[in-house]
Amino acid sequence: MAEPQKSQFAQIEEEMLEVWGKEQTFQKSLEQREGAPYFSFYDGPPFANGLPHFGHSLVTSIKDSMLRYKTMRGYHVPRRNGWDCHGLPVEFAIEKQFGVSGKKQIVDLGLEKFNAACRDSIFAYKADWEQFLQRIGRWSEYDNYYATVDTNYTESVWWVLSQVHKKGLLYRGYKSMPYCPRCETPLSNFEVNDGYKDNVSDPSLYVKFKLKDEEAYLLAWTTTPWSLPGNAAVAVNPSEQYVYVNLTNDNGRPETLILSKKRLQILDKIDYNVVKEAKGEELIGLSYEPLFQLKDLDQHAGHEKLYRVWPAAFVSVEDGSGVLHVAPAFGEDDLTLGQESGLPVLSTIDASGKIKGGIGFDDVEGKFFKGADRPIVEFLTTKGLVFAAETFQHTYPFCWRCETPLLYYAISAWFVKVSAIKSELLKTAEEINWTPAHIKNGRFGKWLEGARDWGISRNRYWGAPLPIWVNEQDENDYIVVESIAKLQELAGGQANLDDLHRPFIDKVTFEKDGKTYRRIEEVLDCWFESGSMAVA
Ligand SMILES: [Zn+2]
Repeated sequence: MAEPQKSQFAQIEEEMLEVWGKEQTFQKSLEQREGAPYFSFYDGPPFANGLPHFGHSLVTSIKDSMLRYKTMRGYHVPRRNGWDCHGLPVEFAIEKQFGVSGKKQIVDLGLEKFNAACRDSIFAYKADWEQFLQRIGRWSEYDNYYATVDTNYTESVWWVLSQVHKKGLLYRGYKSMPYCPRCETPLSNFEVNDGYKDNVSDPSLYVKFKLKDEEAYLLAWTTTPWSLPGNAAVAVNPSEQYVYVNLTNDNGRPETLILSKKRLQILDKIDYNVVKEAKGEELIGLSYEPLFQLKDLDQHAGHEKLYRVWPAAFVSVEDGSGVLHVAPAFGEDDLTLGQESGLPVLSTIDASGKIKGGIGFDDVEGKFFKGADRPIVEFLTTKGLVFAAETFQHTYPFCWRCETPLLYYAISAWFVKVSAIKSELLKTAEEINWTPAHIKNGRFGKWLEGARDWGISRNRYWGAPLPIWVNEQDENDYIVVESIAKLQELAGGQANLDDLHRPFIDKVTFEKDGKTYRRIEEVLDCWFESGSMAVA
């Protein structure tokens, strides 16, 4: 059989590319327009540790057409290639290469070795990318490229962050992340999606919160008894109906419970009387007695707001009791509600998933969180605070690496206060000529309207280090360093700043006014880096 023939179109394209190459057509198109009106073009840099795919060819063709059009209209349109080099895609490939995963194993392997391998891998497919882009006919300066791994690029990103800080838009807060306590690392959402298991047996517990000023209990449902010591509030849906019901409890005593009217079916097997109805919003502000007596509560900002009923539209009346146990340390919605209400984050579990001391129930101290479920249910039962305890089967996420059950964990993180500049962002978006026009008020506009503060720190390794040095004695005293020169000045000219990556940058400490400053461990979200390209 004869060799398959290349199509005529493909041959014409290749001939054209050869002419452009020989005659330096792109370079000439720039030279001829030196001094003409400038058309600036910003392109999000792609990763070169993986191969391009169809989606890239579509987008790159559109960009190229636009720039050629502007060029033909007489504009000067310089364009440079750039490469995104940091972040999880690179780290995952290297974890695989070494057969390690999670914080413990990476630290055991050594950050220096890990990051060196990351650096070696970032341009693995650069030549393939360039060949792909050039074959499509994308005009760009391929040799004069920039990379987010470059020291001067990182320095620009530091400067951007220092400007954010100067404007009062940088702060430290909490972020609820799916977390593996064995790997001691937060997981991304797509990692979590890999690890769901069906038919997992867990407790189904109806627990009673005794109101302070009434002889009545709020009946809440939870599948995570281990999180109950971290309870900070109870939430109800303000627009739903709630009922007070009288019944006889297991000890033969009369008792009043409060639950959603739509959830009365959970009392099906019991004799009860509805004695009162109230809208959810009427319950707001009621105080209840905490299930656990935590030590040193008054050291938490906002402690005076603890143990009350709060409104939350996300409280479902489709399952449970319509009354939600809120533990800001252990749930995404819980943390959001806690932050909006100024509630403290009660972290009753340590980074390795073990129950901390000082929760008023020493028997579970040091136990792995899942192992604390049963003793906690027994403890509450003896105090007469359990209405019903059963087990049920549901779908639960596990760590895809080590099969440990995950938990949502509020980890300390750094944020850009996007909420403070949202109206300005919306105003600016209004002036942009969007293509296609419908995304202005559609997909993008909606996203902007719902924009929340941006968590920009990552508890990872291969990334631009956050330029924040914290006073060892006082975590609220910190310095955001804007440049290499500034850092060198602070370090008394003694620091080796040839490579700004971890672990080298972690060794840079300095003294100021008799206080020692040490860098926080986190690196920057690589989206903050690629988003800084216009400045860098
Ligand atoms: Zn794990």
